[in-house]
Amino acid sequence: AKKQGGNTYCFNTHDQNNEMERYYQIEQEIKLALQQRQFSIVYQPLINLDSNQIIGAEALLRWENPKLGSVAPSEFIPLLEELGLIIPVGDWILKSVCKQLKTWQDNEIFLQKVSVNVSPIQFRNEHFVTDLKQVLEETQLDPQFLELEITEGTIINAGSAMNILTELKDLGVKISIDDFGTGYSSLSYLKKLSIDTLKIDKSFIDDLDSDGEIIVNTIINMGRNLKYTVLAEGIENREQLHYLKHQDCHEGQGYYWSKPVEVDDIPKLYHHSINS
Ligand code: C2E
Ligand code: CA
Ligand code: CA
Ligand code: CA
Repeated sequence: AKKQGGNTYCFNTHDQNNEMERYYQIEQEIKLALQQRQFSIVYQPLINLDSNQIIGAEALLRWENPKLGSVAPSEFIPLLEELGLIIPVGDWILKSVCKQLKTWQDNEIFLQKVSVNVSPIQFRNEHFVTDLKQVLEETQLDPQFLELEITEGTIINAGSAMNILTELKDLGVKISIDDFGTGYSSLSYLKKLSIDTLKIDKSFIDDLDSDGEIIVNTIINMGRNLKYTVLAEGIENREQLHYLKHQDCHEGQGYYWSKPVEVDDIPKLYHHSINS
């Protein structure tokens, strides 16, 4: 700590201690979380902007701990990655989501896709493709309904990213680039990769009311020209929706329609959307 007034110094130390304490407590608790069934998965609807119907869902991880309460993914996902726990947890997510999608299909909830976030650590793991293949076989899910969300950073940092992506395409699953526009990738790699969906990052949608139109239009046009599905994340209001529709963005996701919801709420939302 710096030389500062007595009070400030004390306050900082105290603050840092609290932060460290919380970090260690979370670290201890998270090691038991999978085994003690403290994780759950919520689903956020994906909407086709032409039909206004729910055509899919993104699976998002939640952690509810008896001592810590509910902890935000932004806080615990990096820790899962650091501790290597993202591998078993990620496996559990993939298996749960595939099973769930199968159940929905058996109950005539026809979603075109359910997307799952894949951490760079998972993607780089040498067993990732084989484990995924096994999950697909075990759950008997048609792979075309599963979409893996990876970020630009994941592709850049994995030396063999091209090979892994090819193996995943051979399995028959779909690939989307998450938070598109926020990474530091060159555009030249885009066409080389066989991906299915570009997800425009929420930060660009937030900027639509100021000066964000040009970037959003550029991403939509580029995505459409490359024959990708373009999805806008974090749509919160009617103005954003109208603008994106007008620009021929294919799909959307955001609080305007729904926050991520418990698994049992998806059939209700689905039926409501196809009947209205
Ligand atoms: P992400 O993949 O970009 O997920 C979208 C995040 O934006 C979610 O936050 C979602 O709840 C939030 N969101 C969606 N629509 C809106 C909106 O209209 N307004 C606002 N303010 N927020 C919206 P969440 O669930 O807290 O997840 C945060 C991040 O944590 C995710 O960002 C993803 O990077 C990571 N994450 C979540 N679940 C998983 C998982 O199962 N595996 C991995 N590897 N990462 C995950
Ligand atoms: Ca995502
Ligand atoms: Ca995202
Ligand atoms: Ca994001």
